[in-house]
Amino acid sequence: MEKPIKCCLCESQLDKNTVGLNMKFHGRKITKYFCIKCLAAHLDISVEDLLAKIEDFKSQGCTLFE
Ligand SMILES: [Zn+2]
Repeated sequence: MEKPIKCCLCESQLDKNTVGLNMKFHGRKITKYFCIKCLAAHLDISVEDLLAKIEDFKSQGCTLFE
């Protein structure tokens, strides 16, 4: 079992899509992850925009997303 990944700011547990999103923005070798809310704040965009991006990546067939 992979250990659960938590947000480095608020410690909420991340789902696969959020982990994938972190990798898309920060590369696959990152050690710190953000939950979708903290990532949105960090990137200064809205959570809705991030959710839309997840859908975009999924439709491109990216394997980081489910
Ligand atoms: Zn967070």
